[in-house]
Amino acid sequence: MTQTALDDLLESLTTKALTREVPTRAEMSALLGTSDDEVLDVIAAGSRVRRNFFGMRVKLNHLVNMKSGLCPEDCTYCSQRLGSTAEIMKYSWISPEEAAGNAERAIAAGAKRVCLVASGRGPSERDLARVADTICAIKHATPEVEVCACLGLLKAGQAERLREAGAHAYNHNLNTSAENYRQICSTHTFDDRVQTVKEAQRAGLSPCSGAIFGMGETDEDIIDVALALRELDPDSVPINFLIPFEGTPLGGRWELSPQRCLRILALFRFVFPDVEVRLAGGREIHLRGLQPLALHLANSMFLGDYLTSEGRPGEEDRAMIADAGFVIEGAAEQTLPTHRHDLVTIRRRGAGTALPANT
Ligand code: SF4
Repeated sequence: MTQTALDDLLESLTTKALTREVPTRAEMSALLGTSDDEVLDVIAAGSRVRRNFFGMRVKLNHLVNMKSGLCPEDCTYCSQRLGSTAEIMKYSWISPEEAAGNAERAIAAGAKRVCLVASGRGPSERDLARVADTICAIKHATPEVEVCACLGLLKAGQAERLREAGAHAYNHNLNTSAENYRQICSTHTFDDRVQTVKEAQRAGLSPCSGAIFGMGETDEDIIDVALALRELDPDSVPINFLIPFEGTPLGGRWELSPQRCLRILALFRFVFPDVEVRLAGGREIHLRGLQPLALHLANSMFLGDYLTSEGRPGEEDRAMIADAGFVIEGAAEQTLPTHRHDLVTIRRRGAGTALPANT
């Protein structure tokens, strides 16, 4: 691409993002097709959008894996899948007290959101009760913390139960394009996932949904999943890069370069200019020494360990954030820009519903 063509592309992407206009497929394709030599120009353009909506703040999030491994589903990227021989820890539900203790340590280290995750197709009523007790314990100790639940596919009424228990958000990733979905999972569908995100949103939970890259997807798949996510209008979008566990079908697959990861992050910043774009699993092993550059695109990241693999020490991430000139977002600070922050919560409990009133 000539410098003039690159400048024109980035100017168009930036101008559209600042007015929350969706880029064209041709623009997204051209962005993903930029060369490694051009990646700093791409980051500089994405950084203008990031600073406009989120300043230099970085939101920290922490995962608590409440139930690990032994999943009946067969997502090819997952170390907890049916038939996985990855040597991960496997355990059934940890107690609400243990989960809350983990959450409290992460909050003290700067986490503003705690994500309570459990392997499995979806929660049973008993599972929901356990998670509700955990949310209660966390919120009792730290009322201002955001609690997100990530428990798989939701049945009717389950999102409301979580909302009533004090959950702020629900995470369910689309992971890849509808077209590519059957390549990565046979036990549930892309549409199942879309329905669960909608169910959470309908119940008043803040929708969190993102994707995983490095699973053999094409540029078209990346654009498709970005547009499918945009249609769902999530508040937060985690961007994962495949952690290729040995013992899973995608074990040993290393197809991403740090520059490719940065181009993907830039694409998501332009498609989700005023939405929380979160650096998630795989950032350390795929971005490697270029992680600080990713902060100019993402405004949020996970702190600490992932579900079944270890992240790097929190102090290294906090030092990276400070060295790159960013600041950790405080508990009292609003993450999303005011125009996305709906101060009115529609009542979905009490009279006219099957749920008890807030008394
Ligand atoms: S991603 Fe979730 S549903 Fe799929 S195998 Fe892993 S734990 Fe199970």
